[in-house]
Amino acid sequence: MTNSNGNSHPAAAKSPALRVIPLGGLHEIGKNTCVFEYGDDLMLVDAGLAFPSDGMHGVNVVLPDTSYLRENQKRIRGMIVTHGHEDHIGGIPHHLKNFNIPIIYGPRLALSMLTGKMEEAGVMDRTKLQTVSPRDVVSVGQHFKVEFIRNTHSIADSFSLAITTPVGVVVFTGDFKFDHTPVDGEYFDIQRMAQYGEQGVLCLFSDSTNAELPGFTPPERAVFPNLDRHIGNADGRVIITTFASSVHRVSMILELALKHGRKVGLLGRSMLNVIAKARELGYIRCPDDLFVPIKQIRDLPDRETLLLMTGSQGEPLAALSRISRGDHPQVQVKSSDTIIFSASPIPGNTISVVNTIDSLMMLGAKVVYGKGEGIHVSGHGSQEDEKLMLALTRPRFFVPVHGEHRMLVAHTRTAQSMGVPADHCLIIDNGDVVELTPDGIRKGDPVKAGIELLDASRNGIVDARVLKERQQLAEDGVITLLAAISTDGLMVAPPRVNLRGVVTTADPRKLSVWAEREIGWVLENRWNQLARHTGGTAPDVDWVGVQREVELGLQRRLRRELQVDPLILCLVQPAPAGTPAYKGQADQEADTRPAPRGGRREVGREAPSGVQRLTPAASSTPRPVATPAAAAVVEAKAAVATQAAPVDSEPEGRARRRRSAAVAG
Ligand SMILES: [Zn+2]
Ligand SMILES: [Zn+2]
Repeated sequence: MTNSNGNSHPAAAKSPALRVIPLGGLHEIGKNTCVFEYGDDLMLVDAGLAFPSDGMHGVNVVLPDTSYLRENQKRIRGMIVTHGHEDHIGGIPHHLKNFNIPIIYGPRLALSMLTGKMEEAGVMDRTKLQTVSPRDVVSVGQHFKVEFIRNTHSIADSFSLAITTPVGVVVFTGDFKFDHTPVDGEYFDIQRMAQYGEQGVLCLFSDSTNAELPGFTPPERAVFPNLDRHIGNADGRVIITTFASSVHRVSMILELALKHGRKVGLLGRSMLNVIAKARELGYIRCPDDLFVPIKQIRDLPDRETLLLMTGSQGEPLAALSRISRGDHPQVQVKSSDTIIFSASPIPGNTISVVNTIDSLMMLGAKVVYGKGEGIHVSGHGSQEDEKLMLALTRPRFFVPVHGEHRMLVAHTRTAQSMGVPADHCLIIDNGDVVELTPDGIRKGDPVKAGIELLDASRNGIVDARVLKERQQLAEDGVITLLAAISTDGLMVAPPRVNLRGVVTTADPRKLSVWAEREIGWVLENRWNQLARHTGGTAPDVDWVGVQREVELGLQRRLRRELQVDPLILCLVQPAPAGTPAYKGQADQEADTRPAPRGGRREVGREAPSGVQRLTPAASSTPRPVATPAAAAVVEAKAAVATQAAPVDSEPEGRARRRRSAAVAG
């Protein structure tokens, strides 16, 4: 959606309103990206990524559409990072390829993780990184002062923000829960939050992830005795998987390994990276000799071994998933293994997680997983945590963020139960603009928001059209169609049709006939537009245009006649002017459409070659038809001026048919 008046920041220079624009993170969990603007200043808060959902074939990473930031890049004064989770920092290296950010302020652990990603992406020179400590205040542009307030979350070194703006103070919680016994001893700075509440908070933007859950989220320490018990009871090796970025969890697991006299082998790149960075910064403390290189792990007795690895989400390439498939070079499952899933599946990953658990069990291992075991707690606060945040800040206005729609609704209900009037709460979507003044909140005209998809290389953008094509390939297969057409605008050989992955009960000959009809239709009705006579002997033919027209026509016919929607790939083999025309077999079968112009014609003698190619034995990859051979096939046929195919009953419909950009939203 673009702004209705076409202006990307209407009246920003004069309006006294603060504009807060989330570009990601709403109506979803992931890719949190939020813009704060006042006057000419634009400040970015977090820029995360999300992981693909089913149907996003070959997509590695989902990012928010950043058109708005690209258009307004001159006004970007700086960026604030709240913590080091991928859904908050994962997008930054990619964005820096498109626009500069003068400075990024953030916690040490997050910026240390970000540095690795930026080096990999080759964008270290695109910004300056500045680490902050609790209660540090930084200025961004002329209008923003941001104080970092220590909070508690599943990753260490996490912050909530108090943003002082010309219209008032906005508290942006970041991800949080109230954990009064934090593993690293860094307590939630509740006093500072309360001080802001005392002074007056204009608006609270608060984490909604667990807004549907009653009660308080248990402290991270709650999993310790349960992990302790499972590790203590294990007779063989212990294999544990969790999020690498769950620094507190990792820290406790290492503590338990030490306690139970087990050496630790680490598997998975992110596990190694995060632990190295967290140890370097003091968020994980343990002796060096606790770790054993994975190659030497076989030399240890099973009862002295603990393997900590990635794969808690069933990610196909992660260590545990490979082990479950028996294709990990160093580690094979033993029936004496105890495998602990110390994480819960992110919605959307459930199926791959349960499949991994099944495979591991079938290999004979004891697998410990699920809510009842008490081996995982969330890093996000539940309703009582959210109430405490509301009670501390006592905001005039309230906007729930970081959550799917029902979570936003539930969080709003909680806020209302705490006395925030209904018309002081706003449920927004990505791209919506929250306009705040000292005494009002409203939605402004939205800005463009949507998604950008990166393929496995993380370089190419998978646009909506490519994604649609991949979905078609996966779901309906592909039909290739080879058409030999002379520069006179004549079909000079029978089209060759080849199917891959297409399920249809249709007679293959029918497809061949339909293909001929579509080619004929295009030659008869579109040739004049597609072939321009520039004065030379041969016209200048837009062969890509011809292909597209044929593809669109055949696609529409298949949808209508067979209710299938395969990807259709038409290749044209151009033949020189004067090549005798192929007369066609299109009249062998009555068409359901209006009668062709020129009446019935003689039926060609030869069976269409495309038909034979449909049988498995003959279904080799189609090669372009050599023009002389094609001409030979048809030499006996009369050279008619044009292929008199039926006229499409709704020709004007063709112009409107374009592949839809279904994924943007
Ligand atoms: Zn987080
Ligand atoms: Zn998050």
